[in-house]
Amino acid sequence: VESSVQADMERLQEDFPGFRDRYRLIKRIGEGTFSTVFKAEDIHYDRYDNSWDHEDDLSKWTPPPLKGRSSRSRSPRKRARFVAIKKIYVTSSPARILNELELLHDLRQCPSVCPLITAFRHTDQVVAILPYFRHGDFRAYFREMTIPDIAIYLRSLFTALKSVHEHKILHRDIKPTNFLYDPTTQHGVLVDFGLAEREGTDSKPCLCHEARETRKHRQAGSVWAQTSMNTQPGYPKSDTRPSRRANRAGTRGFRAPEVLFKCTEQTTAIDVWSAGVILLTILSKRFPFFNSADDVEAMIEIATIFGSKRMKAAGLLHGCVFETTIPTIGQQGFTMEKIILWSTCRAEDKPLTPDEKLAIRFLERCMELDPSRRISAQEALDHEFLNMGMS
Ligand code: ADP
Ligand code: MG
Repeated sequence: VESSVQADMERLQEDFPGFRDRYRLIKRIGEGTFSTVFKAEDIHYDRYDNSWDHEDDLSKWTPPPLKGRSSRSRSPRKRARFVAIKKIYVTSSPARILNELELLHDLRQCPSVCPLITAFRHTDQVVAILPYFRHGDFRAYFREMTIPDIAIYLRSLFTALKSVHEHKILHRDIKPTNFLYDPTTQHGVLVDFGLAEREGTDSKPCLCHEARETRKHRQAGSVWAQTSMNTQPGYPKSDTRPSRRANRAGTRGFRAPEVLFKCTEQTTAIDVWSAGVILLTILSKRFPFFNSADDVEAMIEIATIFGSKRMKAAGLLHGCVFETTIPTIGQQGFTMEKIILWSTCRAEDKPLTPDEKLAIRFLERCMELDPSRRISAQEALDHEFLNMGMS
């Protein structure tokens, strides 16, 4: 493994003319489906007069004030001593790479969003340079988080989401590895806009955006049955109607119900659902909480919690009929309180505290099956739970 990392680093340094004069590669810090990320030191860092002298702590960094063009151009270019170099795989389409860089550029002023410093291209190879942000491994710290810790973590995540959503951008891949959080400083930054998109990108009308009355009418007529599972448990009923295309980009276990139901007019609410799954993971002390191999299994998992009745109603919003004969899916489902008590093996004599109940109430607002009723990032920041201990 070591030698392959070495080889990777060699190649990066050789591919980009002048790379060695600018950056000193330190180590590989991430390897995903779409990129490899390295930690490096910006060699010329000392030459710049800058106020960003805080080693790895991005939280101390504030973007230059946006007071109109002239003041922006005069403000000194801030630099990070340590950078994350994201080498985007050449198998990613140029359009996709451009999309990620463009969105990051649009979001450069957003609090809690990791800013893009610069990007380079050499032939078909693109690297993005981001300030390095020291962070913990979610799996190592999430079980130890107290309720106030969780509120602070989510406040930081929802601060990022609020500004991303204000820019009418869907992140689409909210999950712990894309939210770099340092439990010691209690600051976090959102990264990885590789799947992000602007709201309304190639969207076709979906029933969920129509008035309740129109929807009822249409539901009675033509319906989609792709999610029916009444022939064999776990398998979709054969359906000869043309299948509907919808963006399904994201990560297993974090996909919102409307993504699974192939809603063609997805909104920023999908990110709030995924943030809710993170909260559910922390409260239940189980990672991954959802562990499905495919979308049908993912629906079964969600339906087990929410019950077939609510799941059916959720599907109908998008013109999907949800049917199931799986015996573990009840009509009514379970309350989140029950789910959390069970998954943490809490004894009857250790009831939930008022703070825990507050966290669960917030969770229920994030994991609202109907995206139009789900809490928005802005509303979340105003919620009592995220304001715990702030007064
Ligand atoms: P991918 O598209 O391959 O998932 P990401 O942008 O999510 O790429 O980066 C992959 C990993 O690299 C992250 O999960 C994180 O561990 C690390 N990483 C990315 N950006 C930074 C950064 N600015 N500072 C520190 N680590 C980072
Ligand atoms: Mg990622």
